[in-house]
Amino acid sequence: MPKMGNATAKAALGRSTWHFLHTMTLRFPDQPTKQESETLRTFFLNFAQLYPCGECAHHFQQLLKELPPQVGSRKSASLWLCALHNEVNKSLGKDEFPCDQLDSTYDCGCGDDPNAAKNATSTAP
Ligand code: FAD
Repeated sequence: MPKMGNATAKAALGRSTWHFLHTMTLRFPDQPTKQESETLRTFFLNFAQLYPCGECAHHFQQLLKELPPQVGSRKSASLWLCALHNEVNKSLGKDEFPCDQLDSTYDCGCGDDPNAAKNATSTAP
């Protein structure tokens, strides 16, 4: 496969990453435990340090200072991430995404129960 140009590769990485992040927050529990909320918060802080595009990571770190992760529920986390993505969109001259369309845009294809994998593991012999 031919190597992608820098801008194309950066955009492709961005698209897949946003897809993963939005899908993750939309599967976060409606009523998380303190531990689940803390896990999500530290995930985003660590993610901002590790994201492979340095310019993007730096930008994201600045945004996190202005808009710290909202980890109290699925709704607050998914709307927070949508707002953050819209801030990145704005800085790149892209259109604002309507955050009331999140549910119809992202489907992980993994069934109705966000805890299915955890439950399956915990009931295994
Ligand atoms: P993307 O922005 O990648 O979005 C993909 C799809 O998500 C869209 O087609 C739309 O269906 C949906 N979407 C759009 N907005 C939202 C939203 N608010 N909420 C939910 N869904 C939405 N690129 C840079 O050049 N400079 C940067 O500083 C930079 N920072 C980034 C920081 C992060 C954390 C990430 C993940 C990416 C960053 N990128 C950056 C990449 C950039 O955001 C885009 O991913 C890339 O330019 C490709 O854009 P796109 O138009 O295909 O749509």
